[in-house]
Amino acid sequence: MKIKMNEGFKRLKGNYVFADIRKKIAEKESKNLIDLSVGDAAYPIAKVVGEAMKKAADEMSGENFKGYPPASGYPFLKTAIKNYYIRKGVEVSESEVFVSDGAKSDIKRIVELFGDLTVTIFAPGYPPQYDCAALNNKKIEIIDLSKDLFVPNVNRVSEKPRLIFLCSPSNPCGTVISKAVLKGFVDYALKTSSMIVYDSAYADYIGIDYLKSGGVFCPYEVDGARKCVIEIRSLSKFASFTGIRCGWSVVPSELVTGGMRVSDFYTRKLSSEFNGVGYIVQRGAEAALSTEGEEYSKIIINIYLDNAYSLAKLLKTRGVKFFGGENSPYVFFEKPLSWGKIAAFDYLFNKFGIAVTPGEGFIAFGKDYARISCLKRKEEFFKALRILEKAF
Ligand code: PLP
Repeated sequence: MKIKMNEGFKRLKGNYVFADIRKKIAEKESKNLIDLSVGDAAYPIAKVVGEAMKKAADEMSGENFKGYPPASGYPFLKTAIKNYYIRKGVEVSESEVFVSDGAKSDIKRIVELFGDLTVTIFAPGYPPQYDCAALNNKKIEIIDLSKDLFVPNVNRVSEKPRLIFLCSPSNPCGTVISKAVLKGFVDYALKTSSMIVYDSAYADYIGIDYLKSGGVFCPYEVDGARKCVIEIRSLSKFASFTGIRCGWSVVPSELVTGGMRVSDFYTRKLSSEFNGVGYIVQRGAEAALSTEGEEYSKIIINIYLDNAYSLAKLLKTRGVKFFGGENSPYVFFEKPLSWGKIAAFDYLFNKFGIAVTPGEGFIAFGKDYARISCLKRKEEFFKALRILEKAF
């Protein structure tokens, strides 16, 4: 065959970072190995979610069978999403909500909405931001977060219209974007006709104290954001939906480019390529976003946050430089000098049987760092902590 593959493949790194780590873990075949690399949910979905999905499955095998769902989501889920925002003091209308099969797919769909432009990515960052832009043959500008304590700095972005990815709390850095910093980006975007894609996959990890003292739960709390920000949300780390697959994006009605509403393009795009999220999953998502579902999520999130807090405490006492550890399930640490030349992953993996994710895996500028995921059951995480006490 002589068919040309997408040129964008040439710009991708060899393997997706987690595929490499999984291979190493599989090869080691050790029962004592503790995997703190991948950010997957460790606790099951809430009972209320399971019950809702069972009921929906019964409907599907009876009189109430449903076929194709609406491409942007069932009205009942959009209303649940709207009510979830209302509980946080944010107003979003049902017509602005686009239900999806997860935030990763939405990153791709949103990048594809736009024509020839530069995509700005802050790194270390979530790899699909880079990969999706590369596969869509976009120009990519990568900005080094390590120069700014791993918080995006708008002054490093050159003044031209562009698509800017922000992620808060950050995967992998664990840092959070304050309202003041976000306001700087919104002002920049309005001034330069740029668009911001704001990944809020971990927004529910931001504690009330930070929200009261300068944080935001949702980008639309910032004046002007409805004119320039698309928000991406995920139920994966909020409600253990990593294996169920559901999230959503908010495309505000004020988001207009070239005199056209972006949400109209998005609706058109979905109708071409997406047949929506299954009824059973959407009923589960509705239950996850109910007050009962949210109560359960808070309990689980607090366990993960406790894990992160305990790890941060250990690193502080050992004088290790790190970021995250609060308002986030991730801790991003600099390899201690005492470990010598060996890479952080190899040091912890070979000597202590703990898998972490090398900082290099997060697009760029993460070389001397590694990420520890605290999305683990309490007992297992504390077992890992006892080992890490010896390692650091
Ligand atoms: N965005 C960020 C920042 C993430 O860390 C992840 C998953 O790790 C996702 C999006 C993917 O979310 P989903 O499972 O909804 O596709």
